Amino acid sequence: MRAARYYGRGDIRIDDLPEPEVTPGTVGIDVAWCGICGTDLHEYLEGPIFCPQPGQPHPTSGETLPVTLGHEFSGVVYAVGEGVDDIEVGQHVVVEPYIIRDDVDTGPESTDYHLSEGLGFIGLSGRGGGLGEKIAVQRRWVHPIADSVPLDEAALIEPLSVGYHAVQRSGASAGDVALVGGAGPIGLLTSAVLKALGVTVVVSELSPLRRQKALETGVADHALDPREVDVVEEVRRLTGGRGADVAFECSSVQPVLDTLMEALRPTGVLVVIAIWGHRADFDMFKLVMKEIDTRGTIAYVNSHPPVIELVESGKIQLTPFITGKIGLEGLVDEGFDTLIHRNETAVKILVSPSGRGL
Ligand SMILES: [Zn+2]
Repeated sequence: MRAARYYGRGDIRIDDLPEPEVTPGTVGIDVAWCGICGTDLHEYLEGPIFCPQPGQPHPTSGETLPVTLGHEFSGVVYAVGEGVDDIEVGQHVVVEPYIIRDDVDTGPESTDYHLSEGLGFIGLSGRGGGLGEKIAVQRRWVHPIADSVPLDEAALIEPLSVGYHAVQRSGASAGDVALVGGAGPIGLLTSAVLKALGVTVVVSELSPLRRQKALETGVADHALDPREVDVVEEVRRLTGGRGADVAFECSSVQPVLDTLMEALRPTGVLVVIAIWGHRADFDMFKLVMKEIDTRGTIAYVNSHPPVIELVESGKIQLTPFITGKIGLEGLVDEGFDTLIHRNETAVKILVSPSGRGL
């Protein structure tokens, strides 16, 4: 089978690999669609970051470069390993792409397995990836979805789960007003979850195309250009002078952080989703004087079941976020290139590793 493997910075190759072995407790999946994520781009441009360096195997997967990429994927079950009796060949599934030590509690009540020591990601730290034609995944991380959800949309359930967990961290509820700083894929999908919950969403974004996307998809009630509009004033106006109840930092840009802190109401909640590669200049005075709650959020924990429900029920439509479909051979020249150089026009580019559906 063919798979896109990461060998190091700027080096991704399409390799011919043996099919994965469907061992006891695992599920064999024919990958239908796999999204390209910002994390993949970071690995390509600046990595290895999450991918295990040569000579330093990942503590849980035990693997080093090269690794198959791709952690946002959907597919169809083609085999089940011994002991797996609650999932069938032919079933449509998505994967929660974790690699977690066996001694960690990953049960339905756990709220912190995503923070456990030795954590890794399928598609970054080993155990195959969604940018290969087939993959075998431990049953725990395989989530069946209804046949009514198209498999291309289903590939977006993973990044949507990132938005869902961030919204959970914020404590936002219906009737609240949220300010989202940055309308890249995660800002847009976080907004989609907020809208589905009945929250009023204000997006601040420089790119006119992204603002347009936020409005077109209906995930934002207002999309503001911070160069044209005083975002803080506008939020005050929309909230009767009160300020935003919650704010989401999705840009890792200092002026956005400042705007969010300013626009939040007293006792508001700031959730930081963006992965900051540098330290921030943080307004501690404002934090204290407004009693603002600042919360980090990373990935997701037991978020896939409720997110799948939101998608199955039609409360969130994912099709508008799919802006391109390519084959494995176009991964770097078409996919990565577009996202690196023309990312204003693209939200999610999906790859079909087998070429089916193109
Ligand atoms: Zn990702």
